[in-house]
Amino acid sequence: MFQRVKGSYDIVPNSEERWKESGAWQYFEAKARLLSSIYGFQEIRTPIFEHTELFVRGIGEADAVTKEMYTFLDKGERSLSLRPELTASIVRAFIENSLQNKECDRFFYMGPCFRYDRMQKGRYRQFHQFGVELFGPKDPYLDVETIYFLLQLYKSLGLSKISLKINSIGDKEIREEFGKALQSYFAPFAKELSPDSQRRLITNPLRILDSKEECDQAFAKNAPAIAEFLTPYRRTFFEDVLKGLTGLNIPYVIDPTLVRGLDYYCDTVFEVISTSDTGAQNALGGGGRYDGLMKILGGPDLPGFGFATGIERILQSMITENSLPEETDGPTYYFIPLSPASKELSFSLMTSLRDQGKSALLNAKNYNLKKGLALGSNLHAKYAVLIGDEEIGSQIVTVKCLATREEKKVRIDDFLGILV
Ligand code: AMP
Repeated sequence: MFQRVKGSYDIVPNSEERWKESGAWQYFEAKARLLSSIYGFQEIRTPIFEHTELFVRGIGEADAVTKEMYTFLDKGERSLSLRPELTASIVRAFIENSLQNKECDRFFYMGPCFRYDRMQKGRYRQFHQFGVELFGPKDPYLDVETIYFLLQLYKSLGLSKISLKINSIGDKEIREEFGKALQSYFAPFAKELSPDSQRRLITNPLRILDSKEECDQAFAKNAPAIAEFLTPYRRTFFEDVLKGLTGLNIPYVIDPTLVRGLDYYCDTVFEVISTSDTGAQNALGGGGRYDGLMKILGGPDLPGFGFATGIERILQSMITENSLPEETDGPTYYFIPLSPASKELSFSLMTSLRDQGKSALLNAKNYNLKKGLALGSNLHAKYAVLIGDEEIGSQIVTVKCLATREEKKVRIDDFLGILV
């Protein structure tokens, strides 16, 4: 027997774990698509793999690229990588398809990403992200609008136990100044930091702040805050974002340890965590402003803002918060033939219904009324259509509503005409 690759899972119609059910995914996707269209986001679908260089240049310093990327040589000796996230791909597609000339500047995406990550609940090697990217102009309203969009998405999915963390990380120069201040602050405890953070102390001290290691977090708590280093322009921008959030009654927590250590990130960064789950993987989604990325990737110098949210974690939180609706969608008509002769008539009526665009299924497993009704109920069918030899003789079928148990006799001649 073959088994799926470690860190991956199947999405199936029926599973012990409801977040793996295709109905749950379709429910999420429908909500995400609806909200995207309300906010004017248009879909971009990019390939699962890209030239490795795109990710190295686009998100080079992140663990997702340096440690966790699935990279391989294809038969033409090109280095390709499975996408660890989508921002770099969306920016590439925007540039390559000259979308800046086509009045499209806000996009959403959904699809699988790949990271060779340590496995645990909420962390997979193939996982799925939904996200949006907006390209220009640089305006605090866009930050507010996008954060609001994400929160509305969670709300529409019934998630209420969430918390928004936000910070401003200025620009590259500010972060260099701040980095020096952090180096001086951490230097006396360098030996007590995790091995990763000891390395970061030299290469990228900001990343110590978002370390998940307890030994680092203890020191990070009292570290200097980047807010003290912001220029008046950056500070005002951040204040305008916060004002916009307050204007929409969005509660937030300013978190000085929230940083994205990449060169092109600037100003607003944010993360939404689930407070219903005490597990380590409580980050539902996050994003921020990345004004330099488009230029680094060879495009126009357009500012960018976006977020990505993990669909697995959303569905798992919905289960914890009991907001994932029960599966109720089944066929409208479920034919239950009670004899071999009536199967032929059932089959022909079922086919006619389908030709009219109505959903219909047939019990081909047995000719038993009780078992047939039970199967129809399990499938969440709306009506059972009972056809036996007697019905063939009288040319009348019985249509039973499975919820109310009400029955109606209908002439076969009329059957297709009267059904809804
Ligand atoms: P990131 O690009 O690391 O900020 O991730 C954005 C979101 O994707 C996170 O908030 C998670 O919800 C989700 N995510 C990231 N990595 C994984 C993973 N390995 N497995 C499942 N979800 C993930």
